[in-house]
Amino acid sequence: MAMQMQDLQDLYVHKLQDIYSAEQQALQLMQQSVGMVQSPELRQGIEMHIQQTEQQIQRLEQIFQKLGQQPGGEECEGMKGLVQEAQKLMQQDASPEVLEAGMIACQQAVEHYEIAGYGTARTYAQLLGDQEAVQLLEQTLEEEKMTDEKLTQIAQQINVEAMNA
Ligand code: FE
Ligand code: FE
Repeated sequence: MAMQMQDLQDLYVHKLQDIYSAEQQALQLMQQSVGMVQSPELRQGIEMHIQQTEQQIQRLEQIFQKLGQQPGGEECEGMKGLVQEAQKLMQQDASPEVLEAGMIACQQAVEHYEIAGYGTARTYAQLLGDQEAVQLLEQTLEEEKMTDEKLTQIAQQINVEAMNA
């Protein structure tokens, strides 16, 4: 279905719907992957980001409500691809260390994708003068960046374990 895309406001709403779909998919992936993780540090990290993601979804719903727009209806194809790659990896006959190193890489791709999306949405919100949305989107953007950094830290050990597996 073709949508109305006449100005930055339309693009902004579309971007938010895309991110909303991406977040739902990312949440499902983490709920699926957390059960396969053996490293307590990684499991704890994923569990914490599941909670953050639930809050991020609520922040988006808050923005949609103020805009008088519906959050649903859009499917983020980019996140769909990232999730499929992660699921393919999880089906491999891999040693636990290699699987976890690979899962971190997939999760970091998800965080980078989200960082790109929230950066754009935050910039649109600034231009459109929606200061409340700017605050909410920036809060999430910081959480995504911190999650990415934390995963980089966790990977340092797990990558070496994968190398020696
Ligand atoms: Fe997120
Ligand atoms: Fe995230």
